Amino acid sequence: MNKRTFLKFFALTSGTLVLANSADSSSAAHHGVSNTQELQEMAQKMFGEVISQNDYYVNHQGSAFFEKLKNSQHPRATVIGCSDSRFQSDSLDATPENDLFIIRNIGNQFSSNMGSVEYGVRHLNTPLLIIVGHSRCGAIKAALGDYSEEGPHIIRELDSLSLAVRKTSLMGTDESKWLAAVISNVHQQAYYAQKEFKGDVECGKLTIVGVVYDLSNDFNNGYGRLKIVNINGESNPEKMMEFPLMKSLFKPVHF
Ligand SMILES: [Zn+2]
Repeated sequence: MNKRTFLKFFALTSGTLVLANSADSSSAAHHGVSNTQELQEMAQKMFGEVISQNDYYVNHQGSAFFEKLKNSQHPRATVIGCSDSRFQSDSLDATPENDLFIIRNIGNQFSSNMGSVEYGVRHLNTPLLIIVGHSRCGAIKAALGDYSEEGPHIIRELDSLSLAVRKTSLMGTDESKWLAAVISNVHQQAYYAQKEFKGDVECGKLTIVGVVYDLSNDFNNGYGRLKIVNINGESNPEKMMEFPLMKSLFKPVHF
């Protein structure tokens, strides 16, 4: 079997192979690992699943799906989200392809990826910029503590976050301070974006919304719900309700 035939064979059979292995799901995958062999086994298993799931995705979507996408993109929203694996785009949009232009980094920062955000807003002309923080954000927790032992790249990103979260006075329990810092960071990133895209916001071309994805039900509105905390720099709930964006959510229903 030559390499090409082998690869073709592999593409056709990887799904079966991976499914056969899926029964022995390693607890190491979710509980941390300590040795190189376990890491290598995890990498092999994960990569097998990636190839298999790509295979499923391609077959499920069909070529017509890609034919429509191949020449250009027309997303309706630019999204700045945290890289945290517990937050994924399908919590916002069941069909994110060609709909969400997503920038992700630790702590959902505008300030560390301004070029990418500007590309979404100014080149792709998305009328909506959504900044998504999330409860129990590890990056925010790190920025609140001592991260001086981290490497230089992580320190740079946490310094930027730290500036955002230390601006507000935080009170209460550690949990409530953590959540307050998550919200504060969303406000701060929204503020940076507001400054950068002031003209677009003022003329109505762009709306900037800050939300917190509540994966731990910290707001008591239910797990995974979005808490809207900022619209175009406004954080007063009553004033936020005056924005057309919010009014459209609560249109009266006529029977
Ligand atoms: Zn996070």
